[in-house]
This record gives sequence, structure tokens and C-alpha cells, in this order.
Amino acid sequence: MFNALLVRKDDESGKTSAAVEQISLDDLPHGEVTVAVEYSTVNYKDGLCIGPGGGLVRNYPHVPGIDFAGTVETSEDGRYQPGDEVVLTGWRVGEAHWGGYAQKARVKADWLVPLPQGLTTRQAMAVGTAGFTAMLAVMALEDHGLKTGHGPVLVTGAAGGVGSVATAILAQLGHEVAAVTGRPETESYLRDLGASKIVPRAEINETVKRPLEGETWAGCVDAVGGAMLARVLGQMKYGASVAAVGLAGGAALPATVIPFLLRGVNLLGIDSVMQPYDNRVRAWQRIAQDLPMEKLDAMIQPATLEDLPGLGADILKGQVKGRVVVDVN
Ligand code: NDP
Repeated sequence: MFNALLVRKDDESGKTSAAVEQISLDDLPHGEVTVAVEYSTVNYKDGLCIGPGGGLVRNYPHVPGIDFAGTVETSEDGRYQPGDEVVLTGWRVGEAHWGGYAQKARVKADWLVPLPQGLTTRQAMAVGTAGFTAMLAVMALEDHGLKTGHGPVLVTGAAGGVGSVATAILAQLGHEVAAVTGRPETESYLRDLGASKIVPRAEINETVKRPLEGETWAGCVDAVGGAMLARVLGQMKYGASVAAVGLAGGAALPATVIPFLLRGVNLLGIDSVMQPYDNRVRAWQRIAQDLPMEKLDAMIQPATLEDLPGLGADILKGQVKGRVVVDVN
């Protein structure tokens, strides 16, 4: 028997509740690899899955946790042997499939990535889906021509998970980073991560009034979407790109096409869930290489399985700073 955060749904009221319970290996879903989970983390989607489900969870009872890192315990797939350290993000694990908020998880071998050299399982979950996605965004900007010396790179939702890691990576790569935050109290945290300019959220959150403003940003990692993304498009330098990662500020895009037509601005979509294996390995290797570990350590907020119901509610309110690392043991 081992511990898991189980979300149950009451058939009559339709209400969900989450609590730590004991489950057994027989309770785990099918899959080729059983992993002794060491660490998981808390993402926005986890907040939804710990709580009312947000349409993501198929069946109850459910074990959330969209990412985890740990050690292979048993494997029916030749690519993984007992003792191998592995990371999992995406593939709807923690939503459609039971996830990482348990001391053991059973998954498809195709969904795993070997832990990159130079990272511990704890550091891998300090990175987590948020940091992995931030790296995918930086790689997409580079693939579309982002180079140092072209001007400041904007990061929106900067004090959140994606934003914190994007800020640290971009600064480490030598970019000037402008961090947008709605929480002025996070300024010293963001400056420690490498931001050279803090942009108050209110300054950039207004509806687009002019389709083009001054050419300001050489690139942007956007975790917010909505009115902020629309506004940022009109502030990009000629030919620059925005990597659209999230929707913390809304899914609508109240923009005009003028920045695309007159400034050749690119809007790059970033998806971490169905990312092909080779690009996953490339992103994790880049993380091990380009994310300064002392800055990563400064982002960590430690937690246990028991803390998850509260943390799930906090992340839905935008109240989590940096990266929560859940020690499931
Ligand atoms: P967090 O909650 O940690 O960070 C989001 C940040 O956005 C907040 O910390 C806050 O930053 C800012 N924010 C919150 N609400 C608003 C608002 N109403 N208006 C403007 N800014 C706001 O989440 P994550 O960093 O984990 O994820 C960010 C987004 O990326 C989410 O929408 C998530 O679903 C998405 N995502 C997408 C992935 C993909 O594959 N495309 C993968 C992972 C995440 P501050 O306090 O600094 O203002």
C-alpha cells in the first residue's frame, strides 16, 4: 500500500473532494512502466484537476499530477530498466490518466524521458511542465531568429511558473529581460532571476487602442494571453516573435492583424502536451545546460501531498510564486 492524493466525486451533488488515501499497485492503471515517484509539482491544470475538474478529468476516483520525476521500479519495455531515473510531462497524464500525486505511477513507456544528466529528480520537478514549456518557448523564439543584442525580451506572468523559468533562462543566455507582473512585491525575486526591467501589469493590460505602438520588444514569452497578448503584438520590433504559452489572463485575443502585416510579427504557438520525443529530449538537455541551478533553487517552494488541496486553490487564484516542488514521500 502507498499514499496517493485521491479526488472523489459525489454522484448526487456532483461535488469533488481531494484527500490523501492508501492505494495499492492493483489500483494503478495499465502501462508498461511502474515508477517510484519522488517529486511532482503544481500547475494551473493541477489546480483544476484537484478541484472541480475543469472538464479535464474523465473518471473518478482520480489521481491528479500532470508531471513527475522518479525511478523505474518495473518495466515491460526494453528502453527502461529498474533503477533508471525518468521524467514525465504531458500526454494528458494527471487528467485522462492517473498522475504523479502518488508514491507510484504506471504509464506508457512512450510518455517518459530519461532524466537529463546534470539534473536531480527534485530539480527536474522544480522545472516541471512550466519550466519545460518555458524552454520550448525560448527554443521557438531562437528558431525564429531571436539573438542577443536585438533588444529586450518581454516575459508576461513573470512571477508564475512559466514566467519565472523563462526569465531565468533568457537572462542566463544574455538577453535583457523585461518582466511583466501584477505583484509588485515580487520585484526583488524577479530581479534576482535576472530581469533588468519590471513592467507593472496595469501598464500593458489595457485593450488595444492603436494597432501599432513603438517597436519595443525583440521577443516575448507570453503566459497570459487575452488583452495583454493583443497589446504586446503591437509593441514588437519588426520581424520579432511572440511565443504564446498560456491563458492566465484569458483565452480571447482582441487584436488586429496589423502587426503581422506591417511589421512581420510572428505569433508562435507552444504546446507541451503532445511534443514529439526528440524535441522533449532536446528541451530537457537545454534546461540542464542553460538554466542556472542556483536560480532554480531560489524558485522552489517545498510541499507535501497533504498541502495539495490548498495549493490547487491558490494556483487557480494566481497566488503561487515560482515553482512548488511536491515531495510525495
Ligand atoms: P502560474 O499561475 O504559476 O502563473 C501565471 C501568472 O500569470 C501568474 O503568476 C501571474 O503572474 C499572471 N496572471 C495571472 N492572472 C492574470 C491576469 N488575470 N492577468 C494578467 N496576468 C495574470 O501558471 P503557470 O506559469 O504554470 O502557467 C501559465 C499559463 O501557461 C497557464 O495559463 C497555463 O495553463 C499555461 N501552460 C501552458 C502550457 C502549454 O503546453 N502551452 C504548459 C504549461 C502551462 P504575475 O503575478 O507575475 O502577474
